[in-house]
Amino acid sequence: MSQLTVAKFGGTSVADADAMGRCAAILEQNPSTRLAVLSASSGVTNLLVALASGEHQPDSRASLLQQLTEIQQGILDSLERPEMLTRHIEEILHHIKELSDSAAISPTKALHDEIVAQGELMSTRLFVELLRQRGTQAIWFDVRRVMRTDDRFSRATPDLTALAAAAEEELRPLCDHQLVVTQGFIGAANDGRTTTLGRGGSDFSAALLGEALAAAAVEIWTDVPGIYTTDPRLVSEARAIPEISFSEASEMATFGAKVLHPATLQPAVRRQIPVFVGSSKAPEAGGTWIRNSTPSQPLFRALALRRNQVLLTLTSQSMFQAHGFLAEVFGILAKHKISVDLITTSEISVSLTLDAGAELLTEEVQAELSKHCHLKVEHGLALVALIGNRMSEVNGTGSRVFQALSDVNIRMICYGASPHNLCFLVEEDVAGQVVADLHRELLPA
Ligand code: ADP
Ligand code: ASP
Ligand code: MG
Repeated sequence: MSQLTVAKFGGTSVADADAMGRCAAILEQNPSTRLAVLSASSGVTNLLVALASGEHQPDSRASLLQQLTEIQQGILDSLERPEMLTRHIEEILHHIKELSDSAAISPTKALHDEIVAQGELMSTRLFVELLRQRGTQAIWFDVRRVMRTDDRFSRATPDLTALAAAAEEELRPLCDHQLVVTQGFIGAANDGRTTTLGRGGSDFSAALLGEALAAAAVEIWTDVPGIYTTDPRLVSEARAIPEISFSEASEMATFGAKVLHPATLQPAVRRQIPVFVGSSKAPEAGGTWIRNSTPSQPLFRALALRRNQVLLTLTSQSMFQAHGFLAEVFGILAKHKISVDLITTSEISVSLTLDAGAELLTEEVQAELSKHCHLKVEHGLALVALIGNRMSEVNGTGSRVFQALSDVNIRMICYGASPHNLCFLVEEDVAGQVVADLHRELLPA
């Protein structure tokens, strides 16, 4: 067949049978979509994460399992012939119970991924049956056969070469003949153990599979009709952007626009595959096309917000007119696989921000860093990113931005490394207002 399209449906899009029906209609209208990549039904992954934590007593686990069962049962009940699947879903739920009992005794990272992966395994089974009952032929495919990863559970890295070879051999022949339904978010290590790609990872899965199959397009169907000028839940005046470049959209995803997992666009960029973002609730409303370049390149395009940032300030007299200090610090962070976001330096100190740093910045890491410098760790901060074009080249950009922020204490600024973004750190409790103010001043309708 000619080039296929990959469509990904997020948690709210497959939340219940009605929502799944809308996804089915989208697929039925576009026969060139041959691969559907699904998330778990809304709320399911959170329940599974709680069950996998091993922190819940038997009563509380029973209640979590009950909630999980109700979500699956609600979808089963809407099927014309639920008996085709009831037994299978019951088996999966029983398997989850056994695994979570084990996690309560001895939680492990591998067990965690095995448990949370069950959400996508269930939603895809239910969706295939729903499609069949609508008269649309589709087959279920276990993505772990192709999505090979390393064994860094919870945040596994895909092996692109293995994925490309396996997708060519196992997935393409199936897609040539029918619609294939598979799971986002999950993969398998070399030894066959289940892994996951990180929360929100189904977008990334869809783009990786699109890359492996050289898709004509990747569609991300979610609960908003496109990428907005900022999170519409935060600023009601935010509006959808019809077209945006890969560079701008990547910056948005990286700096907190939850609508796309941060890594989603890397595979699309490598293969130059256009990505569409639209709402499965209102496909007729259109959405956003993300492409290599766009006719309009406004100075200010959008705002993104990332909460829960950690600011690390390292001070050392030996940094003064010396060399090697930064290499030492970054060596320690690299050894512990801690990725650094923003950096600023002064004569004897360097400040860094870490995303979700609290969990990675263990006492061991802090002790190691403290051997080389004085360490200050600050929490309760949020990172605001202004996304646009040629921002580092146009006179007066800084003054326009900072005038709009005249009443705010800005803890750190990063500007100039990319023409597409200007980032700064503010106190968490004013961050929402900062985004609203900047949106009003810099992105008026
Ligand atoms: P899914 O379950 O489909 O993956 P997500 O909840 O992960 O959906 O992403 C969709 C949500 O992303 C929207 O409901 C919206 O609140 C949020 N969001 C954050 N920033 C933006 C933005 N710039 N444009 C659109 N949505 C955004
Ligand atoms: N179900 C997973 C999550 O909730 C992956 C995804 O939906 O993208 O994080
Ligand atoms: Mg998502």
